[in-house]
Amino acid sequence: MIKVVVAGAAGRMGGEVCKAVLSEPDMSLVGAVDVSSVGSDVGELLGRGTLGVTITDELEACLKEKSAQVMVDFTHPSAVMQNIRTALKCGVHAVVGTTGMSETDLAEIKSLVEDGPANVVVAPNFAIGAVLMMKLSEIAAKYLPDVEIIELHHNQKADAPSGTALKTAQLIAGLRSKETSRSPVEKETVKGVRGGKAEDIHIHSVRLPGLVAHQEVIFGGVGQTLTIRHDSIDRSSFMPGVLMAIREVEKRKGFIYGLDKLMGL
Ligand code: NAP
Repeated sequence: MIKVVVAGAAGRMGGEVCKAVLSEPDMSLVGAVDVSSVGSDVGELLGRGTLGVTITDELEACLKEKSAQVMVDFTHPSAVMQNIRTALKCGVHAVVGTTGMSETDLAEIKSLVEDGPANVVVAPNFAIGAVLMMKLSEIAAKYLPDVEIIELHHNQKADAPSGTALKTAQLIAGLRSKETSRSPVEKETVKGVRGGKAEDIHIHSVRLPGLVAHQEVIFGGVGQTLTIRHDSIDRSSFMPGVLMAIREVEKRKGFIYGLDKLMGL
């Protein structure tokens, strides 16, 4: 039985993770951490009746008291690094879905795991379909170097662009030859209208109520376009990937970045 503590348990993703863990026969939800809803029973929050797992804001104490094996973090860019440091200090593996971490943060995680017994999996997108979207984009980029990314998320998302858009840009950047179509005199008459750039690829971030997590990677070629689109229409879409990571993190020594590595892609 894998003993799991969920950080961000009162949030949208954290709540979904709690439900998913509760329904797995080889996992046990032993703790729930959040800065909101402290003292509430997580089962009550999920509409499942009392479960005896109370939300606390003391991550370290929770990990130690419950003898946790895996911490799952879906919190906030401002909180995630401290949570990872705490988990590793306690010898607890971390599965991290929170986005908005910097390259410096990722380098710190890499060096922290070298010194201790616990491993870390960070995935900017736990939806298996989104990972395939990125893989298919890598294939397309070899043949169609002109590409832009549109990512669309709900209006409460804290960071922009999304971690998935950034990861897609990084993956594509190394594979494509020089793009062909850009006008040498392109001028924005409305500032920012062409989006932002990562890895020299335009990214456009849409934030609207009603959306969950969506991305289009649009390739343009002579007389044709190719659009690779993935839609997470419900947060449950991320759960098979999260559960895979909870099961795998103990076996994968060190720091793994991206669900694609766990999927063997
Ligand atoms: P959310 O609903 O705001 O949930 C985050 C929860 O974490 C909130 O209850 C928040 O409390 C709490 N929190 C903040 N600081 C904390 C701390 N130090 N310790 C414990 N809990 C803390 O956000 P969400 O929509 O669930 O998204 C969470 C993260 O997951 C975001 O970074 C999002 O981009 C990411 N995400 C990743 C994937 C993926 O596949 N990797 C998919 C979807 C979302 P307050 O509200 O009081 O701040």
